[in-house]
Amino acid sequence: MIKELFSDLKSEIVSVREFPPKEGEYGEFTFKNPEINQLVKSLGLKLYKHQVEALEKLYSGKNIVVTTPTASGKSEIFRLAIFDNYLSNPHNTYLLIYPTRALINNQYEKFSLENFHFFQITKKMVNAKILTGDVEWSERRVILREKPRVIFTTPDMLHYNILRNLKDYEWLLRNLRYLVVDELHIYRGVFGTNAAYVFRRLLRVLKRFGAKLQIIALSATLRNPKEFAENFFGLEFEKITRATNPFPKRYLILFEPRRLNEMQLLRAVVEKLAEKGIKTLVFFDSRKGTEKLMRFLLSSPAVYKTSTYKGTLPKNIRWEIERDFKEGRLLVLLTTNALELGIDIGDLDAVINYGIPPDGLFSLIQRFGRAGRLKEREALNGIVLRKNGLDYYYKEHLDELVKRLEKGIIEYMPVNLKNRLVVKKHLHYLLTELKVIDWNELNDFEKAVAEELIKDKKAKLYENPLTGKKELRILRPAFSYSSIRTASDESYFLVLDEPWIKYKLLEKESLSDLLRFINWLKLKGYVIEEVDKPEYYRSLLPGMAYFSRGELYMARDKLKIGKFHFIFVKQLNRFWEVETFASKREEVEILEIYKKKQFKDVEIYIGRLKVKHRYWGFAVKGKDTHLYLQELIKLKEEGILKGEIYAPLVGGFEAVNLDELSDEEWKILDWEKFAKIEFDEPLEREFETDGIWLVFSDRIRDVAREEFHEFFRIALEKDQGDLAFSIYERLDRRKLFPELLGATTYYIKKTIQDVLEKANAKDDELALAIKKMIDSKDGIGNGLHAIEHNMIKIAPIFTYVDSRELGGYSYESFPNPPHIGKPVVFIYDGNEGGFGLAEILYENAEKLIEKSFEHLKSCKCKDGCPLCVYSPKCGTFNEFLDKWQAMKIWERVFTFSDG
Ligand SMILES: [Zn+2]
Ligand SMILES: [Zn+2]
Repeated sequence: MIKELFSDLKSEIVSVREFPPKEGEYGEFTFKNPEINQLVKSLGLKLYKHQVEALEKLYSGKNIVVTTPTASGKSEIFRLAIFDNYLSNPHNTYLLIYPTRALINNQYEKFSLENFHFFQITKKMVNAKILTGDVEWSERRVILREKPRVIFTTPDMLHYNILRNLKDYEWLLRNLRYLVVDELHIYRGVFGTNAAYVFRRLLRVLKRFGAKLQIIALSATLRNPKEFAENFFGLEFEKITRATNPFPKRYLILFEPRRLNEMQLLRAVVEKLAEKGIKTLVFFDSRKGTEKLMRFLLSSPAVYKTSTYKGTLPKNIRWEIERDFKEGRLLVLLTTNALELGIDIGDLDAVINYGIPPDGLFSLIQRFGRAGRLKEREALNGIVLRKNGLDYYYKEHLDELVKRLEKGIIEYMPVNLKNRLVVKKHLHYLLTELKVIDWNELNDFEKAVAEELIKDKKAKLYENPLTGKKELRILRPAFSYSSIRTASDESYFLVLDEPWIKYKLLEKESLSDLLRFINWLKLKGYVIEEVDKPEYYRSLLPGMAYFSRGELYMARDKLKIGKFHFIFVKQLNRFWEVETFASKREEVEILEIYKKKQFKDVEIYIGRLKVKHRYWGFAVKGKDTHLYLQELIKLKEEGILKGEIYAPLVGGFEAVNLDELSDEEWKILDWEKFAKIEFDEPLEREFETDGIWLVFSDRIRDVAREEFHEFFRIALEKDQGDLAFSIYERLDRRKLFPELLGATTYYIKKTIQDVLEKANAKDDELALAIKKMIDSKDGIGNGLHAIEHNMIKIAPIFTYVDSRELGGYSYESFPNPPHIGKPVVFIYDGNEGGFGLAEILYENAEKLIEKSFEHLKSCKCKDGCPLCVYSPKCGTFNEFLDKWQAMKIWERVFTFSDG
């Protein structure tokens, strides 16, 4: 039925692939207690072969990592093992770790159901409890009193609560038999790196208690599960990777906007699905995307069946949405990755993805796995391709996309076990918890980090006179623990601007008072969202526009109390079409080189960097800029916006006729109406991180001269040399940019056209040639900038790393040693401290360079576009970008030979 569904959208369908359903393969396992075989029967289960294999390895005493797709019965493995083990030894305990609370509630329900069957057979019940941040203090006391055998918890709770109160939880830890870590593939980047150390703390504590445990780790399909698990936990593992469960028939449909534009197409797809009562999740990369479609649906009947869903929404609102979806009052949820994991929102028929997610196929594999869980059903997976680098890559390499989706393997898991900030933090916590650590238990890296703790007077080295052993002892325990979800240990809350809230916040005297008040604000809906530090700088500087759940807000002042930041926001008219973009300048400093290699005559480095972002204001653009400006003027009068407002800057040239621009130009170059805000004092953010950088030879420098000559030749051939040269002399991007920002290129193009028209020499080829002559004035920096954007854009093809996690900066002439005067392109891990992304980039650098050249060549645009070089988060609004130069630079690199 799914195939026929979109018959009137035929013109927009690029491809339909069918994945055949798969039959299951089954096996037998004899549990230690025959009651468990009875339980299997009573649950109506037939064990899959991979479940049997996992149980066999577990029962032979090994730690296991099971990597099979969603809905392949992974959880059954540990549930049955727990019931079996419980019968043999009722004193044992079991710790089940899930990355989100929502997942726990869902998994707990399933466990309870099996527990009931277990009771009917054995007349025994395994006491199981949830222990998360949501659990009330009174309930926590019940847990400590009752000492349940099974605890469902999060790594956060392990970190904040269990490890901090070892005495309270000794009964749990001393008797621990199985440690279950579900959704292991989520443990990547910042969260994964922190969590790896939370688990290492746990394992050290367990060793101290003499616990004899095994680890059961479950994950989506990884390329190297055994290696990953062994590195992550520091223990040996056996892997189980071949899935033997049945699959439903699946369709993969690729839509591409042709007759319709992207949003129209997406709306048409959503309307179709809602009309037919098909339960659908639509995934977006950004909250902005969900809000945009929601606004676009306001005039459609589908709006009553649709809602946005974000992890940052307050809990009560989230629950309401989940319930309405489960009960069918809502049919379509527009979401970011908040619903990626196995949160039960009932049956699901379709998963539509707006574009290829920025982390390549990492999220796509999990998202698609969610549709059509029941065997006899058909499942729909759809992608609405956008005009964007990754989407374009996969449209050109459709077979690769299909093959990779079919295989569903996650190839890289970035985790940085050598992040000093993280290791230092967790070593301090561990010392707070254990008070004393045997010095020789630490590895060399940890010892070096421990020296820092000693220097900070948080710990001291002590020689035990009784044992003669060196011990690390705590001097100053950690008072508050920081979040394991963010790189920095600060939180940013968006709060409705009510004066009394500010006073109340300032009144709070203790941390616990403050935390209670924040929770209350969340519950009452005064806290709109919680964001991280990069998002604050990107989107919430004073005066910037921010969309949340279809509402438009303007950021006002910020209040900082300890590690908490409160950004006060004012609600504005949701129908205004307005966007703001922070403008920033960067500086990168090389602190340390880890490794170096050579590709042709490009030197590739990986090392430690210091990155400085200077935000000097922002730009406002969109149809309703003038209305938004009124608000900005008020904000300035109130003294909150400290800076100058320049607007509207359209007077210098005629209003743009947007119909003449191509679709892709329109999206990023919609600068018809814009304004500029310059802060009196720029806001600065400085951090250390890991990155890679490419150092080019000076050979590439004459590309700029070649550009001038090549395009001047075209003008000469057209017998318009003088005219071209006179326009070339008049226009200088570096001079125009401070005034015109993202409209600079548009202004240049428009001026060229006007002059040509007046001279009766209208000619597109000539116009482009003159523009390229003008581009050449900026030197090769524009080409390097384009290379930087392009490499970041396509990095996820190889690395499964979200481009947004990466930053970049390029220098025509690097000002510092060891590369003084050289052309350098940096790509760095955007998270403070570095969380394993640089290593993956370094490993794949040659492939990345090759693909970058191929990608630039294959893009059909003449002079750069959102597919190849434009980036939505460019600090200079995609000015100073030159695709032609980028290709020439790569060409030179590839034709290099030693001889
Ligand atoms: Zn292009
Ligand atoms: Zn840029």
